Amino acid sequence: MLNETIEKLLVYANAHLGLDEEDNTYTRNILMDLCNVSEPFFDEMNISAIRGLKVPDILIQELRSNLLLENVCDPSNVDRFIVKIMGTLTPRPSEVTAKFKVLQREKRAKATDYLYDLQIKNNYIQKSAVDRNLHWVTDFDKNNLEITINLSKPEKDNKDIARAKHEDLKDSKYPACVLCKENVGYAGRSDHPARGNLRTIPLKLDTEAWHLQYSPYVYYNKHCIVFEDVHEPMIISKRTMARLFNFVDIFPHFFIGSNADLPIVGGSILNHEHFQGGEYEFPMMKAENLVEIPVDDEELEVHILDWYNSTIHLSGTNKERIIDAMAKILNAWKIYENKQLNIIPATADIPHSTITPIVKRDGRVYHAYMILRNNRTDENYPDGIFHAHPEYHPIKKEGIGLIEAMGMFILPARLKRQLGEIANIYKEELVLGEVLQDHPDLEIFGELFTFLEEENANEETVEELITTYVNNVCREILKNTAVFKDDEEGSAAFLQFINEVKI
Ligand SMILES: [Zn+2]
Repeated sequence: MLNETIEKLLVYANAHLGLDEEDNTYTRNILMDLCNVSEPFFDEMNISAIRGLKVPDILIQELRSNLLLENVCDPSNVDRFIVKIMGTLTPRPSEVTAKFKVLQREKRAKATDYLYDLQIKNNYIQKSAVDRNLHWVTDFDKNNLEITINLSKPEKDNKDIARAKHEDLKDSKYPACVLCKENVGYAGRSDHPARGNLRTIPLKLDTEAWHLQYSPYVYYNKHCIVFEDVHEPMIISKRTMARLFNFVDIFPHFFIGSNADLPIVGGSILNHEHFQGGEYEFPMMKAENLVEIPVDDEELEVHILDWYNSTIHLSGTNKERIIDAMAKILNAWKIYENKQLNIIPATADIPHSTITPIVKRDGRVYHAYMILRNNRTDENYPDGIFHAHPEYHPIKKEGIGLIEAMGMFILPARLKRQLGEIANIYKEELVLGEVLQDHPDLEIFGELFTFLEEENANEETVEELITTYVNNVCREILKNTAVFKDDEEGSAAFLQFINEVKI
């Protein structure tokens, strides 16, 4: 019965969400009203089991089935309803901020840990679903990549899309986007997630108002999003660098980076200025320096990184000096032209060249990475010259944002099923033509089928071969994004470009 579930949720919130027992009667009454329950539950419960829970899954499951069983809400609404209930059990935003600030004064990692744990415990981050994602590391000789197939990013169903269309006709300009601060507590609609259980922390970056929150999809440990207070488009400039450095001074245990500010080479949200950070060391950060660039300054080191795309690594203890150097490189890159290498910085007044900047701290030493990007398209590559080439689109066709550019691939959920079905063909000796009839969406994998044939794939080897193929494709995609290719001409041009910048 729902009244028992409500009682369990109160015990859970007392133990895990910081709900003061003094507020139990008040919160119980709100939940009873929300769930159309008239009598509370007073019998015995296994309280210690609830107190021992690491994630709320078992209670969420019970809540979901009772909400449906007792017809409190429609199946299409039940997820949003659960968010509303978990939001009601979570402390108010100002209380979360107050606790975060107290912990921050004690030890900064304690504050970021607190918010992360709260967001797992209140089901905003669905940790068990995240843990079911596939994750592996390649076995190259050097510069290994991390590959994940993300199953927790929800796919919209057709009913939702249809409803969204209807609601659009009414009004759906609020919140302006999924990053806006107005999402905190928002009930959601079919085309916009419910965020009743989201909590964000206000920050000051370079004297401006920003906010910190965690990503619900957790691509890596403590995957956070830092977004500007106002809904304004992304622009990479010297100001961006100042903000990034400001962030790692506040949270030195986190890296921070920005997606590029242009389509194709940027992230999926360009209309709201934001960064992504977290407590994680990416493959790119482990890469060796390849070439030292002479700089007339003992406080600053500049290298070309031994990495798949075109990355400049700056390090030193003087952050103003690094910010200044980055701004100079950025400005030079924005107008750099090399038709031989297909690098053209703009078409009329539409810019193509930008960067993906990333900053981290190692004690007193700052490390900054500038990945040079260009989003131009042409007849041969209508999706982008320095983007994943068409033969790799069955594996990944979305923009290669900063997480991938740093060597962690987030591949779409469909691949788990598709690659599994392809493996089955060899395991169960099925006839390819028949399988394709049943699963026409496998037709795009012609290149993979050719590879498996060439390698004489059998039931024993097919899975490993598919992994090898995916690994190689991801590496090739990163090479596609390199503006200066790893050949004589490309390397020489890269060196000449950086040497000509008056760092
Ligand atoms: Zn926004």
